[in-house]
Amino acid sequence: MKLFIFSLFFFICSFSSSVFADRVGFQDKSSAWQNIKSDHFIVLYKKAPQQFVENTLARAEEDYQKTATTLGFTRYKGWIGSSRVKIYIYDDAGAYKNSSGLGWAAGSVVTRSRTISAYPSASGFFDSTLPHEIGHIILRDFIGTDAVVPLWFEEGVAMYQEESGRWGADADVLRALVEGRFISVEDMSSLELSRDSNVELVRIFYAEAASLVRFLINEGETYRFARLCREIKNGSRFDWALKKSYMKYQTLQGLEEDWKDYLGHEKSKKH
Ligand SMILES: [Zn+2]
Repeated sequence: MKLFIFSLFFFICSFSSSVFADRVGFQDKSSAWQNIKSDHFIVLYKKAPQQFVENTLARAEEDYQKTATTLGFTRYKGWIGSSRVKIYIYDDAGAYKNSSGLGWAAGSVVTRSRTISAYPSASGFFDSTLPHEIGHIILRDFIGTDAVVPLWFEEGVAMYQEESGRWGADADVLRALVEGRFISVEDMSSLELSRDSNVELVRIFYAEAASLVRFLINEGETYRFARLCREIKNGSRFDWALKKSYMKYQTLQGLEEDWKDYLGHEKSKKH
């Protein structure tokens, strides 16, 4: 039961950040914020403990370096100075909720305005929330804010940055396959999620997104994944970019078949 609550919490965290963040109207961005800066981030806070604020800045810098490397963005220049990403640290869950309207979320990101918002007591802040949201920002900084990519791709990249990398996702996907709840890659690519979406559907969607992106990065050679992102950045449609960079995946169905085979083999290796 404890495990269930844990995973539900984090799915809600990432669910909120991607699906609703662009529509979140944060109310309290103007007054009485103190700040500290590093090369790539500025952390804004009011009453958050100084140590937490300093740790946030240090960890954000670490995640910044790590994210580009894990995605294979070898010549990625990133950003500096005035383009710093803003990380708003609200005093507590109540202040965050009042401002964002996202009472059940641990953090959120708006990639267009390069803003992350969270609060200190958020469980998993350093291991999940912060690297996840920085993953969103770096992906969008690389491919461009107007690039059109499937939601599963965007969320999968962000989850790949979390300390756990959502390792349990493969088992969840296998279970969904066995129980007939699996969502095809094609259906996932057109699926629209909202606050009213079925919770179980959303949970499987996130498990599949995490598993599939990890498959693309780990099993398909990282340089191919970086090439996929470069093709998207240069204006290719996602399916064309996939074809050009992975060659063997001429269709989303082809990718799905290989991914399922891989999951099946991984399972048999464990037995
Ligand atoms: Zn997310």
